[in-house]
Amino acid sequence: MSHLTLPGPGEASRSEPDAASLARLPSIDRLLGRPAQAQLISIHGRTLVKRAAQQALAAARERLKAGGTAPAAEQLDRDIAIRVAQLVAPRLRPVFNLTGTVIHTNLGRALLADAAIDAVAAAMRGYAALEYDVDTGGRGDRDDLVAGLLCELTGAEAATVVNNCAAAVLLTLKALAAKKEVVISRGELIEIGGAFRMPDIMKAAGSKLVEVGTTNRTHARDFEAALGEKTGLVFKAHTSNYAVTGFTASVDESELARLAHARGVPFAVDLGSGALVDLAQYGLPREPLPQDALAAGADLVMFSGDKLLGGPQAGIITGRADLVARIKRDPLKRALRVSKLTLAALEATLRIYASAHRLPERLPTLALLTRSRDDIRATCARLQPALAQFAGDAFDVRVADCASQIGSGAQPIERLPSAALAIAPKGRSRGRVLEALEARLRALPVPVVGRTSDGALWLDCRCLLPGDEAAFRGNLAC
Ligand SMILES: *Cc1c(COP(=O)(O)O)cnc(C)c1O
Repeated sequence: MSHLTLPGPGEASRSEPDAASLARLPSIDRLLGRPAQAQLISIHGRTLVKRAAQQALAAARERLKAGGTAPAAEQLDRDIAIRVAQLVAPRLRPVFNLTGTVIHTNLGRALLADAAIDAVAAAMRGYAALEYDVDTGGRGDRDDLVAGLLCELTGAEAATVVNNCAAAVLLTLKALAAKKEVVISRGELIEIGGAFRMPDIMKAAGSKLVEVGTTNRTHARDFEAALGEKTGLVFKAHTSNYAVTGFTASVDESELARLAHARGVPFAVDLGSGALVDLAQYGLPREPLPQDALAAGADLVMFSGDKLLGGPQAGIITGRADLVARIKRDPLKRALRVSKLTLAALEATLRIYASAHRLPERLPTLALLTRSRDDIRATCARLQPALAQFAGDAFDVRVADCASQIGSGAQPIERLPSAALAIAPKGRSRGRVLEALEARLRALPVPVVGRTSDGALWLDCRCLLPGDEAAFRGNLAC
């Protein structure tokens, strides 16, 4: 190792570095002039490499002050390379989702189909006919890229797309019921999480909330009594993330539609997740479909793009043409509109549904949801040795049955039969040992996120497909 300046014997270990030993550190210019830095500069530019070099020098100075030795030049080179890598590393990092929740909001919800990913990449690379009618050469409407597909799939007359389902609800309320009353069952005043609370959204839209019935039981006569001159909208929200069970009653869509229409008021449904196909055909719990709500008489139905649909984040509004037109004319629509990236991904995803061909193979979200327990168990068994080695002797690592959930509020009670690697500490002070293991898993190049329960860490392998196993093993070995 060639030191930039060799420290005299014993000097470097002194606890108070004098000016001379601090001066042994190279100047920033000298450090940046070294070949290793020249190469980094050619890739990342001088500003960033200089920042890393300054950080490396500051750290070396601190170490000297603490009684350490002056670093060799190669050591500083290595430190700078590491710091450059950290500075350019994306904050939006990939993770292994072994939580058992498939549509995990904190981990990015739905995984997109290959066709959708390709469509997004193409739309990013070049110009696209986003609001341009190629046939006439005139101006187009970005909603038209997907409205036809949405109408075909749901049976709606018209459709529009905004940033997410929360935006769809806000915009619908504002466009149709600002300064008017919106009648909703008391049992549906939901909070979705992340500050989406139905009463707050109503306030933000300028609508007056009129809650009817009770938490567990609401009847048609409750709605009838509340409908009047000032009513702008009858609203139904799918109670997606909780369930009211026991002595309950609610008014179904067709009845609500009849009551609303008798007073000349539109009826809107916030479905939340909203699947486009009947999931029961794949052995999954049945989630309400927009086409069913529309067929039952709903004038508008809203749902998310990145929940069970398995597409990009978006809020889809389908329904009556005159109402969708009113919604699109509201200035708020412009503020909530989606980009070409969203539309590219959504169009490609909807085309898969329109073909109705081999959906679980082509839609990753459906592929994950429909994986059999046997298949997941096999993944667990193949990964057990690597994980046992990673965890070390202090842990038992076994394959155990568990239950996954769909996530994002879809079917909160239902569980999907799954399997996990259950990692339990052998000795005492289990909590801390387990926390340390979790921290090690999070510190991997691709962090591994599991779930703790009953004093063990559960790595549900539902979302780790056989094609990802090699990468998972390689990641553990880092
Ligand atoms: C998830 C959900 C929303 C919010 O959807 P985002 O797309 O996350 O904005 C609204 N309503 C219901 C019933 C939901 O389940």
